[in-house]
Amino acid sequence: MITAPQLFAGIFEPNGDHNCFYCGGQCNTDYTVKKYVKDTFTNRDIVRQPASEYICSGCVCTLNERANINLANEEIRESQKTRLYSWVFTKSGRVAYTKAHLKLLTNIIINPPEPPFGIVLAVTGQKQLLFRSVLAWNRDRFPVMLEEEIITVSPAELLIKIQLASIVIAAIGKPSLGEMSSNHAIKYYDYYGNLDSFELWKKNMHSPISRLALFLSPSQKECANEHPRTNNVKPGRVQAQTSLFD
Ligand SMILES: [Zn+2]
Repeated sequence: MITAPQLFAGIFEPNGDHNCFYCGGQCNTDYTVKKYVKDTFTNRDIVRQPASEYICSGCVCTLNERANINLANEEIRESQKTRLYSWVFTKSGRVAYTKAHLKLLTNIIINPPEPPFGIVLAVTGQKQLLFRSVLAWNRDRFPVMLEEEIITVSPAELLIKIQLASIVIAAIGKPSLGEMSSNHAIKYYDYYGNLDSFELWKKNMHSPISRLALFLSPSQKECANEHPRTNNVKPGRVQAQTSLFD
């Protein structure tokens, strides 16, 4: 069976009598750990075959620091580090995404491609994620890698979470959804005149699927267009009412 890095590299039938140091996939002796893994490599605890002396050509491709990148908007960037981008890869090829393409990424995760496919979302761009990503073989429940975490996604559940996040973001802004303090509650109440979706989001805000939904959600401006302010009560009265929730 192929591994995620092999699909990323367009290798559908790997050969050889060895297993790759990084991904554990079948490989030959073309690339050695001695030559391709720096002494300073500190992630030996997360590689699949730490005792192997070889790495596969798929992993060599995922670790490329001078790659030609095909972006989702058809722009091509030359000599780039693969780790700086989010990726969707299938048997038809690989496409890179930046944070400017969150809407496209959301559409892909909600309507995933024909398996096998891989989805890797880079948050910091600092870490090598592709070699440890896993392939999806099912369109109803599948793994999505968000930075170092592999999250099992059901598209229907994710869509509901994104819709809920969007209601809350409209009132208090995207960064606040990881905090949900009493100041945010006051701001939210001021916007909608109730705390319904605020409480609903707060209940599961730290779940993996919530964090994925938050990463994919649009900006406050876009959310506010969809969910305008509905509370017209004067601020003084709002303060008095929200004190009930502290
Ligand atoms: Zn490999």
